[in-house]
Amino acid sequence: MDPIVQIRDRLERFGGTEYGGERVTQLEHALQCAALAEASGADAALISAALLHDLGHLLHDLGPEAAGRGVDDRHEVLGGDWLARWFGEDVAAPVRLHVDAKRYLTAVDPGYFAMLSPESVRSLALQGGPFSDSAAAEFIARRHAAAAVRLRRWDEAAKIPGRPAPGLAHFVRYLEASRRAG
Ligand code: FE
Repeated sequence: MDPIVQIRDRLERFGGTEYGGERVTQLEHALQCAALAEASGADAALISAALLHDLGHLLHDLGPEAAGRGVDDRHEVLGGDWLARWFGEDVAAPVRLHVDAKRYLTAVDPGYFAMLSPESVRSLALQGGPFSDSAAAEFIARRHAAAAVRLRRWDEAAKIPGRPAPGLAHFVRYLEASRRAG
């Protein structure tokens, strides 16, 4: 099935569920995150990655409250690997790396840790906590790490109840534009 049809179906059918313990739904979170990427002048691939960074939460059946039960669902790997089937690494890699980007930002930017939501702090512990200095240096040298860091900043800002954002249809153009040819 066409991946964009599958993505819309997943987000529309399951995106109404609560996002971890946050006060927005998965779909609201995805749309707010993509809108922030668009407003920052990100390219089509990174806007697509922002929209789809948490798709992995909707691809497994561990339930939306996995982190609340102390389970790391590894949604970044699940989502990134799924996306890599149809999109380039400029979409898949920032998705795969966005959890490591949180571990990076909390290591190098104390102000960033202070603004994490309680749920983000809880999942950070499950994901291994802030990076050590050497792990942070190793991470940021990786390809696509800088894009993942940008994404992770929008991610944390995209949790505002009732904040208006364009609907899913608005962002389909970016998915089409960043789809792998062939
Ligand atoms: Fe997120």
